[in-house]
Amino acid sequence: MQVPFLSLHDVTAIHGEEIREAAHRVIDSGWYLQGKENELFEQHYAEYIGTKYCIGCANGLDALIWIFRAYIELGVMQPGDEVIVPANTYIATILAITENDLKPVLIEPKPETLEIDDNLIETAITPRTKAICIVHLYGRCAMTEKIADLCKKYNLKLIEDNAQAHGCRAPQSPKGGVDLADPILYPLLKDFANHNRHNPTEAEEVLWSLLSHRKSKSPSGDLGAYKFRRQHIIDRYIADFACLDNKLIIEVDGKYHNLNGQAEEDAIRTQVIEKYGYRILRFTNEEVLCDTDNTMRKIMTACQTPPSGGLGGRTGSLGDAAGHSFYPGKNLGALGDAGAVTTNDEELAKAIRALANYGSQKKYVFKYTGRNSRLDEIQAAILDVKLKYLDEDITKRQEVAAYYYDHISNPLIEFPTRLPNENNVYHLFPIIVKEGKRDALHDYLAEKGIGTVIHYPIAPHKQECYAKAAWNHYNTSSPLQGEVGKGLPITEILADSELSLPISPCLKSEQIEYVVKKINQFR
Ligand SMILES: *Cc1c(COP(=O)(O)O)cnc(C)c1O
Repeated sequence: MQVPFLSLHDVTAIHGEEIREAAHRVIDSGWYLQGKENELFEQHYAEYIGTKYCIGCANGLDALIWIFRAYIELGVMQPGDEVIVPANTYIATILAITENDLKPVLIEPKPETLEIDDNLIETAITPRTKAICIVHLYGRCAMTEKIADLCKKYNLKLIEDNAQAHGCRAPQSPKGGVDLADPILYPLLKDFANHNRHNPTEAEEVLWSLLSHRKSKSPSGDLGAYKFRRQHIIDRYIADFACLDNKLIIEVDGKYHNLNGQAEEDAIRTQVIEKYGYRILRFTNEEVLCDTDNTMRKIMTACQTPPSGGLGGRTGSLGDAAGHSFYPGKNLGALGDAGAVTTNDEELAKAIRALANYGSQKKYVFKYTGRNSRLDEIQAAILDVKLKYLDEDITKRQEVAAYYYDHISNPLIEFPTRLPNENNVYHLFPIIVKEGKRDALHDYLAEKGIGTVIHYPIAPHKQECYAKAAWNHYNTSSPLQGEVGKGLPITEILADSELSLPISPCLKSEQIEYVVKKINQFR
């Protein structure tokens, strides 16, 4: 039996007819760049990821390059500034940093998850650190609460390399609920919340009757799509009203707003709640009671704005900006090169759109020395078709992964830890082969007709292109290493022991069973 590592022919064939139709539509339209296919795909992808803006560009590397370049153009970063980044990543992540004359500061992964070790980040932060660039490697979310806290504490930009994890969500439950409540305070908070629910203020009562649709029509349109709860517990706080799907909280103040220290307390409360990706709208009692229409209009507008990510959101919406690759082999792949940036930052979005189009915001007027890095209409049209099926395709990948986890049992093989509700989208299925037998397993499987690939055989800091880089004190064989060279042992061991098994939405069960059987027979 043949099990190719990845058959792009088969992947395209799943939605072949619709893809062909989309391509023909563009061919016949006579419009091939910067048209309505780009506009539609950008809009749909931004909605899917959960950001305000999406800017299509030529490929994933460019997407990352443009994010750093835009921050430099906007004066947020300067050449020579440091960017914290995982040491075990595809080289594009590092190239985007060095291309902008920024300095990569490499962090080892956690051996259990293969994602950046958030315990090692804080000691690597210096006064020149301007950003943390996380990579959702292999399709697993690398974002943690600790990383969010560090970004706040040191005022760092958080950039996501989402080339491998389209569709993945941060592990916090997007629904919120009890799991977002502080476990120790929960019993106490629950009693408070219950009490409040039975004793609403007048303003709360009025707002609840509108939000709960007991009065059928709100003045500003139909809020019916948005389901609110009242007295909802998040962390150590009780929110007056919360829309969990849309990550929106509404607070009606007025009880204590003139008391000393209330502003400070509100600021802390806001910070804690925003950590979970929630936004807070605050109204006074008077606004709710005397200007109800306007209050409802503001709520409607907020409901129609997508939530800005945070824990529980999709990867690509968790930080300040994210680079996405639609290289054909990625979970959402074009039939050629393509990429995009997602962000909620309007200024950044504008700068990136210009940079990827020669640096121009207006025809024949050039604000930046940009490049030509645009997304083809034909690729945008194809991506828009495939985006519709992405979640379905991910489910299939997860089924293949579950089968591997449950059936591969060979003492020579270790898996990255499978965490509860981690929402891995399995762009790749990495295994660790012990006793130096990785290459032997690769060759053995190749003989049996099974394709496997190493991700990645040489870590970025060991690559020839960075052998003489001034920042590269990690490479123990670098001529410049001097005293600081200490290597990156976990990353280097990974490069020698990782092997990726076939995984895709179109593998057949016989193929998956065959892979498992052959692996289990390997000695
Ligand atoms: C694929 C990939 C990229 C680069 O994307 P291209 O579209 O090939 O330029 C960047 N980072 C990671 C982690 C990748 O896997």
